[in-house]
Amino acid sequence: MKILLLGKNGQVGWELQRSLAALGNLTALDRHSTAYCGNLADLDGIQDTVRRLRPDIIVNAAAHTAVDRAESEPELAHTLNALAPGVLAIEAAKLDAWLVHYSTDYVFDGSGSQPWQESDAPAPLSVYGSSKLAGEQRIQATNARHLIFRTSWVYAARGGNFAKTMLRLAKERDTLTVIDDQFGAPTGAELLADVTALALRSALSAPSLAGIYHLAAAGETTWHGYAQTVLAQAQQAGIALKAGPEAVAAVPATDFPTIAQRPYNSRLDTHKLQAAFGLTLPHWQDGVARMLNETLTP
Ligand code: NDP
Repeated sequence: MKILLLGKNGQVGWELQRSLAALGNLTALDRHSTAYCGNLADLDGIQDTVRRLRPDIIVNAAAHTAVDRAESEPELAHTLNALAPGVLAIEAAKLDAWLVHYSTDYVFDGSGSQPWQESDAPAPLSVYGSSKLAGEQRIQATNARHLIFRTSWVYAARGGNFAKTMLRLAKERDTLTVIDDQFGAPTGAELLADVTALALRSALSAPSLAGIYHLAAAGETTWHGYAQTVLAQAQQAGIALKAGPEAVAAVPATDFPTIAQRPYNSRLDTHKLQAAFGLTLPHWQDGVARMLNETLTP
């Protein structure tokens, strides 16, 4: 089984290098790779990569993920998030290969308080959301066997993340102000990578499982609740903080204006995925606790 992974050094891509390794012979690329082109901005290059490698599975973890910057570079966002996945899907279809791709709750407008289902009508608020939706649609328009996982609020132990920022600020300041009117589930890159490998295993022998799925950790919180959980756990681990969980002030998102509009409701209904693949998605606090354990252990 030959597997091509694009975006190997992103949050999800890094964890996929681990979880996909047991499924077959993995070629993992980033945009700087030389033996094969892994730059999604080079559409001919990635087409050539697929044609030369002839993988059985393509996993695309690369994307334009800078949500605010996308507003001022819509063409680049469209190329990386829409045109490139489309090229991968066309090439996958020719090879009869599987294509795994990631999308986002930002395809929805964030209205209401119900978890979004796969069948709900998308209405993106931002260039990033529109470009990711166009990527989904380009894949779906081909005959490629695909798994598209829409996720939300992704974090990883490696690199910077919201939890680490909160910890740093809580050591420096007496109080923090954090948004409490946007809802979602922090979802670990580890979980996304593990579920991807498990879902692929099932899908390889049951092609009817192809489709779009919502994939996020269980439960829900706000950025404010997330921050409080992080600080409480840090205190339990004996970390000295100037600002504990009680010193996190709750503010509306309007207090932190951003260039791109973010959805208020990022809740994703994951019943379809859990039923189709016989999986149980753990609570978001389990993954965050594990990530903090790794981060806080000297
Ligand atoms: P990251 O930003 O951590 O990783 C994205 C990767 O894409 C980076 O390694 C980046 O490389 C790479 N990349 C950027 N431009 C190019 C290019 N021209 N050619 C090749 N690679 C490129 O994102 P995540 O791992 O968090 O995201 C994985 C997927 O999940 C994406 O599809 C994203 O849209 C989706 N998603 C993410 C969410 C989140 O909260 N992060 C939420 C919902 C969905 P470099 O480091 O060199 O820039």
